[in-house]
Amino acid sequence: MAKQNTDDKNEAKNEPNNSSLQSFNFSLLPFNLSKTRYCLGLRCPKILWLDMHKSGEKDASAVNQARLDEGAKVGELARGYFGGYTLIPNTICFDEEAEEEQPENEADQLTIQLSIEEVAQFLEDTEKRIKRLKEKAYSRLKLSRTKRLLDEINSPMGRDLVGVNETFCEASFAAEDGFCSVDILRAVDDGSNVATYEIIEVKSATSLKPEHLDDMAYQYHILSASGRKVKKVSLLHINNQYERMGEIDLQKLFTLVDCTKEVLEKQKDLSANIKRIKEIAGTETEPDISIGKHCDSPYPCAYKQYCSAIKNQVTPPPNNQPPLVDSVKIKAFLETLSYPLYHLDFETFQEAVPSFNHQRPYQKIPFQYSLHIQQEEGAEPLHREYLAQAGTDPRREIAERLCAEIPKDACILAYFMPFEKGRISELAALFPNLAPHLMSIHDNIKDLITPFKTQAWNSPEQEGSASLKAVLPAMFPNESGLDYRNLDLIQNGGEAMEAFLSLPNLNPEEQQRTRAALLAYCRLDTLAMVKILDKLREEVKEKR
Ligand code: SF4
Repeated sequence: MAKQNTDDKNEAKNEPNNSSLQSFNFSLLPFNLSKTRYCLGLRCPKILWLDMHKSGEKDASAVNQARLDEGAKVGELARGYFGGYTLIPNTICFDEEAEEEQPENEADQLTIQLSIEEVAQFLEDTEKRIKRLKEKAYSRLKLSRTKRLLDEINSPMGRDLVGVNETFCEASFAAEDGFCSVDILRAVDDGSNVATYEIIEVKSATSLKPEHLDDMAYQYHILSASGRKVKKVSLLHINNQYERMGEIDLQKLFTLVDCTKEVLEKQKDLSANIKRIKEIAGTETEPDISIGKHCDSPYPCAYKQYCSAIKNQVTPPPNNQPPLVDSVKIKAFLETLSYPLYHLDFETFQEAVPSFNHQRPYQKIPFQYSLHIQQEEGAEPLHREYLAQAGTDPRREIAERLCAEIPKDACILAYFMPFEKGRISELAALFPNLAPHLMSIHDNIKDLITPFKTQAWNSPEQEGSASLKAVLPAMFPNESGLDYRNLDLIQNGGEAMEAFLSLPNLNPEEQQRTRAALLAYCRLDTLAMVKILDKLREEVKEKR
């Protein structure tokens, strides 16, 4: 889960002034960099081009709001890591706004000289332009406030902070047509009489990633180009070995990594990278960049649907072959099962900042299960389910309920069993008095993914995936009751987690609807397993 970068909202000033039309149409052509844009541009400059020219193609559902919210929460918490700090705010104070510098050139002013033909275009762009103007105002405020605060450090009349550790959050800098806000900036003592700084980038990740170095390298470049002396660059990331006990301990929740050497190493490529990104993203025609690994890493690109559709126009979809069925392998798998059979599925949530004692950052905490029980082969299943109350630690109750509902010697079926086994062994470690029963459940789990992973049943409709969400529609293309798309509110595990975590913020009616949607979603997961198993048995019978 990446932290939401605040400079997404704070673009740099200096808009190019190519023509009278472009002087107002700066949401399209003029191009400024932020640290987020720089990192996106390194990953794929086409993202920036699409942002400017075809932002309507962005798949809003690909933007993981829970991940962004969690990142913002981590960012705020990290501010206290070094003790007291000064936050550079971006809220507007009107007295202060009146003192703002006047725009430096004509391009900073909104000049409207329109012909009738240009009006339609103008209206279309108005919303974007207002948003950008607001962002520019915020950026300018942060820049001037940062300058004022940091200038005090060296001012003979000011606080004379040279050599004194002082922490600033969201300090902002602009240079060479680029802008950045630094999560945490520390004035550090390097023995000289010039103010010297350490940049600290906060991430809700649990380790240093290559893209973090690019992010920090860009910040180092902007600060240096704006005349600030940077001595050190560090990453502050989540320590997933931390286990909460009582109040959050920031020193243990976070890990500080010195990245100065790697960041300096990257400086040699930085100007060339910026030039290349600007050239590709600034072209008139859509960059010819194909779908590839970069579209999913470090997280799925919001233009993937759009770019995949373009790709599919050239590559025809696979033809409709019947599924390949290896009845010997299927039979061998079916013989590992016994009755009564318990089809089990968990839903879990994860938090960067643990809410409960004995919870680690990003630990998968089970809050819900669905259980379909078949007493004998082909029998109508009984259904059991559990959904925790939001805001409480669900682990003890879920562990007790599992032990009450699943006998020690039962045969249990999961789809991708490492997930269910992992949660059960964590519950066993947490509750030693339930451990013998929980571990017998753990040891008796069989995995329904096996026939699909081993390609004992393989349909082109699965598109190469053995996941439940790929196998189910391939087996039952016309059964609306088995179609996740027909579910209310929640259609995948990520949405289930977001919905559960959002419960405390909903009104009673919304809570009721969301809880019903959670139950329906999890129930379909285990019903799907019952149906898939039935279908596998049919396949084997037909081939006899
Ligand atoms: S989907 Fe892939 S190719 Fe298309 S813009 Fe995103 S990263 Fe680039």
